Amino acid sequence: MEVNIGEIQGQKGGEIRFHLVEDWSNMRGDGQSLQCISPVVFDGRVTCTGELFLVKGTVSTSIQTNCGRCLRPIQLEITAQPNERFRRSSRAQDEDFLPDQQTDEEEWDHEDIQEFRGLTIDLDDVVLENLLVSLPLKPLCQEDCRGLCPQCGQDLNDGECDCTIDDTNPRMSKLRQLLDNND
Ligand SMILES: [Zn+2]
Ligand SMILES: [Zn+2]
Repeated sequence: MEVNIGEIQGQKGGEIRFHLVEDWSNMRGDGQSLQCISPVVFDGRVTCTGELFLVKGTVSTSIQTNCGRCLRPIQLEITAQPNERFRRSSRAQDEDFLPDQQTDEEEWDHEDIQEFRGLTIDLDDVVLENLLVSLPLKPLCQEDCRGLCPQCGQDLNDGECDCTIDDTNPRMSKLRQLLDNND
């Protein structure tokens, strides 16, 4: 996923709107990857501020994951709002580059600005990062998912199992009292 900033480079206030669609269903990563089951769509714009390029927009896809309680496979729509800053790498051998920017290099390094070379900004990392951050910590198949029996592992959404949870454990009832008193 990438956007070419050729038409607005050096144009302060210049803007390009983009609509990118890419199939990431075969993406296999380092365990940090997403199992996308619909194309990744990025609607956004890149704005030139003179030295920086701001990329903003909305990215969305559907993923395959598992319910955090009963572990059933579920599908989830996720959306993220990337808001990232880029600048052209000063290390690139590029005649368009203004040499006086080199002196600012150290200053820039302390800020959260990503570099790109040439006229194309690669958005893959930004998109992946933003989608990963937007993942719910514990996705559920349904709001009131009953989860698995802690003893036999049966999916309690399918019905009760025959396990009897031992309510007579004195430590448990003490704990329960404490919790009740906290209400
Ligand atoms: Zn569930
Ligand atoms: Zn059980």
